[in-house]
Amino acid sequence: MNTVLDKFAQAAQRPYEHVKAWKQERGVKAVGTLPMHFPAEIIHATGALPVIVQEMPDAITSGGGAMYPFFCGYTRSIVDQVTEDQLGFLDAIMFTDHCVQLLSAADVIRISRPETTIHFHQLIASLRQPWSLESSVKTLRELVADLEEVLGVVVTEEALRHSISVFNENRRLIRDLYQMRRTGQIQLRASQMQHIVKSSMVMDKETHNALLRELIASLKTSTAPRSDEVAIFVSGHLCHAPRPEILDLIEDCGATIVDDDLYTGYRYVSTDVDAGIGDPIVALATAYIRKNDNVPCPTRIDPEVDWEEWLLGAVDRCGAQGLVVLLVKFCEPHYFAYPRIKAAFERNEVPHLMIETEHDGVAMENVRTKVESFVEMIKVQRAARAVAA
Ligand code: SF4
Repeated sequence: MNTVLDKFAQAAQRPYEHVKAWKQERGVKAVGTLPMHFPAEIIHATGALPVIVQEMPDAITSGGGAMYPFFCGYTRSIVDQVTEDQLGFLDAIMFTDHCVQLLSAADVIRISRPETTIHFHQLIASLRQPWSLESSVKTLRELVADLEEVLGVVVTEEALRHSISVFNENRRLIRDLYQMRRTGQIQLRASQMQHIVKSSMVMDKETHNALLRELIASLKTSTAPRSDEVAIFVSGHLCHAPRPEILDLIEDCGATIVDDDLYTGYRYVSTDVDAGIGDPIVALATAYIRKNDNVPCPTRIDPEVDWEEWLLGAVDRCGAQGLVVLLVKFCEPHYFAYPRIKAAFERNEVPHLMIETEHDGVAMENVRTKVESFVEMIKVQRAARAVAA
């Protein structure tokens, strides 16, 4: 089991080295995409390796002057990676938009590296309009045509259907792991889950699926009830992985992270593409439109789904006793949503703690004090309820 987890950890910790080695070994192209809504199945169907561009932990240097300092760490990091020429191994970068800061990053990348092939396709942000599906289908068809031209290939329906089934299997296997963790059947730390999901964003999906099957077969399952540590749901980080040290710190303070809606987590695998829909592009567009039902995204306009209400239900369903919100500093969509989340959790008397994270560093001892207090508060409340019952 450790060997498989080590492979996931290596790819997650050194994603670009992994991609470069894969390109060299297989002689394939690699196409970078940005979070959160790009249907990477389309790239897979061309035979190229889809790679989600990751935030890197390095200090921001030459790219710093190209972006406002009050932009999120993810966008500043990717601009820095481009200006530092760290993404030259990618044969193209494809965007679909999701927030103003990412749009700005696309422009800065285009201007500072005109030789980099960058394509931008704007998926409709409003998900419940009568024309939302039709608009998404149109955008995805343009995206496919663009990709065919960039890579000099033809994307067939058959190849797309195959890629959809490979990606669905990957999502299902990771969701199986999530379900086993929720019920306490397996003990995987949150940082190990992050390695599993993050490596899926940069590894060849068939290889990742084979490793996941091997991992699941090797895991020791338990039917004993979950220990009485404090169960926590972690929410936030819409585009990049929280530093694993933060997840470890939370779990070292007597909490167990049993579920999450992180992008480098459950959000990434929440929604399958319906293989029963005849036209694979329509199937991909439909999955985009209905993804919000499974895990709401504050960058999408959807009057029928409230993230805060969904979070209250998700915390309850997984048996968590509290919510930790990891809020990326200067993430505008999350800043807009957070006051409603806070109000909903206070109204319903469900404990919650917000931790702001920042690319340039987080005061870990401050976080430790906050989390320890939060965990103790939940334990005291739990003991008081037991006495009252
Ligand atoms: S959604 Fe938030 S974290 Fe993602 S690019 Fe936009 S501002 Fe940054």
